[in-house]
Amino acid sequence: MDRPDATFTLAYIVFALCFVFTPTEFRTAGFTVQHMFSEWLGSEDISFIQHHIKRSTLTLLLHCCLPLGYYIGMCFAAPEQNLMYVHQASPGWQVYFAFSLAVQLVSCALAFYWSRRGWSNHPICRALGAHALPQSSWRAVASSINTEFRRIDKFASGCPSARVIVTDTWVMKVSTYSLHVALHQDCHLTVTDSRQHSLSPELNAPVQILTITVASINPRVRPFDIRLKSTEYVELQEKLHAPIRNAANVVIHLTMSELFLETFKTYVRMNAVYWCPSGQELEPCIGCMQASASVKLLRLCQADGEGECQQCYCRPMWCLTCMGKWFASRQDQQQPETWLSSRVPCPTCRAKFCILDVCAVE
Ligand SMILES: [Zn+2]
Ligand SMILES: [Zn+2]
Ligand SMILES: [Zn+2]
Repeated sequence: MDRPDATFTLAYIVFALCFVFTPTEFRTAGFTVQHMFSEWLGSEDISFIQHHIKRSTLTLLLHCCLPLGYYIGMCFAAPEQNLMYVHQASPGWQVYFAFSLAVQLVSCALAFYWSRRGWSNHPICRALGAHALPQSSWRAVASSINTEFRRIDKFASGCPSARVIVTDTWVMKVSTYSLHVALHQDCHLTVTDSRQHSLSPELNAPVQILTITVASINPRVRPFDIRLKSTEYVELQEKLHAPIRNAANVVIHLTMSELFLETFKTYVRMNAVYWCPSGQELEPCIGCMQASASVKLLRLCQADGEGECQQCYCRPMWCLTCMGKWFASRQDQQQPETWLSSRVPCPTCRAKFCILDVCAVE
């Protein structure tokens, strides 16, 4: 790729995507609106609402600069297009210039409009206004939220682009452009969906992400969705002092061991199957005495005489769930990232096995 304009276009697209969606690498490098303009935005801990009013406005302005920034960059990357002089540029570029300038001007006008009357026009302030008492304004609500946000016992979770914050009386979701707020006593929380990930990128351990819909009886508050890890569910429930409904009958895995069991089963299903010799009856599992035995340990992970795994000669005696629980119980509870790769002894003969050696019996 020796054409400078193509190189610039590609680099700019990557830059713009990273700037808008801020992946973890960008975030840790401090390349976020919050970090770069921290002086002007003020501390989130001291004035939470004011911080997010300014942050969302600035984010809008900066994101709307991106189309025009590309045009200006192309003026230098492709000088033969004569982009410096708009009237000499090709019609396609003229349309693009008009479009990006319009985006820029509209965003500036919108930011200016929001900032009038002490930010009263800003969407966040309007959302807070829905909770204000008849004689008061959004400012009273904002100061209540600011005070509660300063307390250290608030519940905070979620990914940086959609944080969930629950204080003593408020449920909030902070996303790139918006802030959703609902009052505990007005809202119903309902678990609507769950998603199981065998390995989360940051933890290297299984996670279950729950989607919870927050609906308020206040007609001026629009319902919104929050997402959090199932292991944080109990903490959320304690903070809310109210039950969370489970409309979709989602099975919530509250502990690491429960979560691991699902992952264990998924991995075992990918392993080879052990064909039971005909005529051999499968006995009930000696762990739970309910299901019939359904797994056999076969050393499949390495060739003979290599590695730490040993051959187990036991007949199938355990069901998959009990074997998974046994496997989880032998792990270091503080280091879930080592669970999948570790070896544990067979519950009957003590021969060491790993997750690759567990075979379903057919
Ligand atoms: Zn069992
Ligand atoms: Zn054994
Ligand atoms: Zn093995």
